[in-house]
Amino acid sequence: MMLTLDNIVSKLKEIVGPRFVSTNPIDKINYQHSLAYGAYKALPDVIVRVESDENGNHSLAEILAFANEHKIPIVAKGGVGMGISSPLKGGILLDMLGMDKVLTVNPKLQHVIAEGGASVYSIHHALRQHGLMLPNYGTYGPSVVIGAMVTKGGIGYGMTRYGWIADLVIGLEVILPGGTVVRLGALANQGTDFGPFQKWIHLPDLLGLFTLSAGALGIISRVCLRAIEGKREWLHDYCYTFRRNQLENVQESMLQLVKGEIVYDIHFTDRWQYYWPMAEGLCDKTKMPEDAWFFLKTMLFARDSEELAYKEKRMRKIYEEQGGVEVQEIAAKAMGARAQEHGLHGWPDFHIMGPDGWCSSIVRHAGMFAVTSKMYPITFLREMYDLDEAAKRECGLWDPEHSPQHDSYVTRDLAIKEEYFVFYNPYDEEDIAKLRRWMGKVQEFSNKRGVVWTAPTLSTKGPYPYERLTNLYDFVKEIKRLVDPNNILNPGTLY
Ligand SMILES: Cc1cc2nc3c(=O)[nH]c(=O)nc-3n(C[C@H](O)[C@H](O)[C@H](O)COP(=O)(O)OP(=O)(O)OC[C@H]3O[C@@H](n4cnc5c(N)ncnc54)[C@H](O)[C@@H]3O)c2cc1C
Repeated sequence: MMLTLDNIVSKLKEIVGPRFVSTNPIDKINYQHSLAYGAYKALPDVIVRVESDENGNHSLAEILAFANEHKIPIVAKGGVGMGISSPLKGGILLDMLGMDKVLTVNPKLQHVIAEGGASVYSIHHALRQHGLMLPNYGTYGPSVVIGAMVTKGGIGYGMTRYGWIADLVIGLEVILPGGTVVRLGALANQGTDFGPFQKWIHLPDLLGLFTLSAGALGIISRVCLRAIEGKREWLHDYCYTFRRNQLENVQESMLQLVKGEIVYDIHFTDRWQYYWPMAEGLCDKTKMPEDAWFFLKTMLFARDSEELAYKEKRMRKIYEEQGGVEVQEIAAKAMGARAQEHGLHGWPDFHIMGPDGWCSSIVRHAGMFAVTSKMYPITFLREMYDLDEAAKRECGLWDPEHSPQHDSYVTRDLAIKEEYFVFYNPYDEEDIAKLRRWMGKVQEFSNKRGVVWTAPTLSTKGPYPYERLTNLYDFVKEIKRLVDPNNILNPGTLY
């Protein structure tokens, strides 16, 4: 029987209580706001907030079973978002932020169990109390949540050595559309004397099914993550620069540094990132070589001076053999804890938009930003950089006002997690048209070469990235039909 919206609302109120259900148009608009700005405007019919108590009890399974029975689309909403939790087909928007508990930290076996709506930031905070950390620190501050970061392919500083956030996941608890709760990996061992300890369980691994799935296969209610021992003072910051014509040397340095397993993180940026900070005097222009175009912000992880001396020596040898020049000004003013000590004069990496975040000075001069997010092998960096520069020039975006910078992660898979930025005026149709044209070009030259997008969806990237995977995509669609026969979970994203 088709339910009316009133019927749906009253049933949801019965499940979660009247305070946690809303059809208010202002609420809908607020929830629709994301970093993708006006790009995805779909609104839900109703918003439901799911809360857990301190023992981790919640009504997620009941909500899902209800939605499934009546074939109501349901989309989980995490934090600020980039637009992929936009409810394309209407229905229920499930606010996960009430499921925000960090349930346990196991300091001996070095893992943490948190609810799907816990902010990544709060997980870091809990681990810190035990001298632990996640070796993957993003720039998002407190604005994103762990369940979403797993399904969306979250990444951060540390990925050069440790990989994606999804690589740190050793267990998941997932709720399927019918309301069935499934524990995977380490969490399948919960309730035994040993408890959770490793990802591998004596059955085929299904954890991967729920990573990069855009919330289309199940709702993640709990995540178990591997942590490492870590202290902020064990991380050491350096920056080496290269000229515009030395991109081959940049590639070679990266390959050697990743293969040698010396570095904790390398971050690849170009001079555009420093244009406005230099103009504003946030960093001292006279301390930056005039011909420096590429900047490799590099972090070493060392528990003591001996380990540091060894790693530093090997890192310096590789950079110097490739013709890199060290610039201490960037390490001091733009990286990690020391940058924060500079107060108003520093602009640390780790906070994009907050006070003195690295984007702030650019946003003051340029406007809102758009960013592409994709992966390709390090050996193609030169070709891809040249293609992007040509596309930006052709679209009239290669100027300080559009700050067309690169801000990319080097991964342990010998790949680049490339972020091409363009800053634009979101209220100027002409500027938006330039941006769209450039995005189309990037999509075309990237797709042609076999790029891997971070969390593509049919609505953000079109069908090509999926269809090029031919029978694998067919297989995933079959699984989706099996798990979610009524296609209620984030319909229109994967299928
Ligand atoms: C200031 C800023 C800086 C950023 N920097 C980085 C960065 O350094 N590294 C990085 O990787 N990203 C970064 N991002 C992007 C970030 O990854 C996205 O915002 C992303 O979508 C994170 O999820 P969210 O919590 O905002 O949730 P949403 O965008 O609402 O959700 C993302 C997807 O996950 C699904 N989902 C949400 N919760 C669940 C759940 N419990 N179970 C199943 N599916 C679920 C949603 O339906 C959606 O498909 C940044 C974002 C901001 C705002």
